[in-house]
Amino acid sequence: MFWSNYFIPTLKDTASEDAQVISNSLMLKSGMIRKNASGIYTWLPLGLRVLNKVENIVREEMNNAGAHEVLMPMVQPKDLWNESKRWDKFGPELLRFKDRHDRDFCLGPTHEEVITDLIKNNVKSYKELPLNIYQIQTKFRDEIRPRYGVMRSREFLMKDSYSFHLSEESLEETYQIMRNAYSKIFERIGLDFKIVKADSGAIGGDKSEEFHVLAENGEDTLAVSDKSDYAVNAELLLENGQDSKSLVGQESPDGNGLLEITKGIEVGHIFQLGKLYSENMNATVLDDSGKAKNMHMGCYGIGISRIVAAAIEQNFDDKGIIWPKSISPFDLNIITIGADKDKNIEASSRKLYKELTQKGFEVVLDDRDDGFGKKIKDSELIGVPVSIVFGKNFTDHKKVEIIFRNGEKVASALNEVEEII
Ligand code: ATP
Ligand code: MG
Repeated sequence: MFWSNYFIPTLKDTASEDAQVISNSLMLKSGMIRKNASGIYTWLPLGLRVLNKVENIVREEMNNAGAHEVLMPMVQPKDLWNESKRWDKFGPELLRFKDRHDRDFCLGPTHEEVITDLIKNNVKSYKELPLNIYQIQTKFRDEIRPRYGVMRSREFLMKDSYSFHLSEESLEETYQIMRNAYSKIFERIGLDFKIVKADSGAIGGDKSEEFHVLAENGEDTLAVSDKSDYAVNAELLLENGQDSKSLVGQESPDGNGLLEITKGIEVGHIFQLGKLYSENMNATVLDDSGKAKNMHMGCYGIGISRIVAAAIEQNFDDKGIIWPKSISPFDLNIITIGADKDKNIEASSRKLYKELTQKGFEVVLDDRDDGFGKKIKDSELIGVPVSIVFGKNFTDHKKVEIIFRNGEKVASALNEVEEII
């Protein structure tokens, strides 16, 4: 990719309303996203590269966990939502509308209805279970207060999966598989996260757990043990009106260590639904004695677009984004300075670009007609882990400067670059 003909519209500044959280400000400044309407965003090429990387890691781990990918419709008919009794129950987050024949539809905020209907009509016997089906798809929720950019938007990308079982034990087994798959996903991305008990009924149990990326700007307050992995949404431990700070130093409910308070961003949620939907929607399979049984269900969500913002909240400095390698839009930025004066710089930088690209690195070549200051600033802003500079040192001594995102610099001969990066 040559920067001069790529589309990275960076900004010097953002409006103060867009700078409430650092991730949104940096995503706008680095030209990753643009706002289209409240809570609705366009992903530009740079942002989309990151989004796709998160998506691919999620997809790989879902496939490894034995789940099968489908793509369900975003537009859903009212009839299905009547069956599950959610058409009236779901609040104004559900965007309802009519088609030209005056029939009611909604934009899918989640897909329990569609998937339960699909499985009910196509799976007849317990022998076809368990099944775990997922999709990666745009959701729409008419959030009351869309804010913080793609962190809490109205239109967003989610991976949602749904599992179907004859028995509770089988559901429990798949739930654990998904719990492990989710841990692997966040480990692979390279984020500091906690698995958090999510509803009061589940303290001590695990019918529902959330995955939180730890970050100062998190909307949720978590109470975590200083000794064990125990973590719970602080709200669940608080009496009416009690401040979460009062939990600090209390004994952890798991009997292991003392509580600390920290902020988290919910990036994933796993849930044992039981027979709620299969009973309402009459979804059954025949068991081994030929009797119709309601299926047990689990559902598992990951906020793909929210992860991109959460990763920034955890990895930035005053210069810009510091991408974890796994989801960086580029591995390397080759920067040329003064290529108009030294023709050798253009030829050598393009040669290195080609070689590294062929070796599988994702490289951007900043061949714009700008000085070092502007180019390194942009490189730091968009968060590329390594920049390789062809400048005066190359003209004089045939050496490039390798600059890591943490500021470390090494001068290197061309044939040594690969060892250093
Ligand atoms: P929240 O409490 O943050 O509103 P939720 O409980 O409504 O989340 P789920 O219905 O469990 O979320 O959705 C699964 C995942 O989708 C969440 O863990 C989160 O990562 C993501 N998500 C939910 N709402 C949004 C949103 N408005 N914008 C971006 N991502 C979202
Ligand atoms: Mg919500």
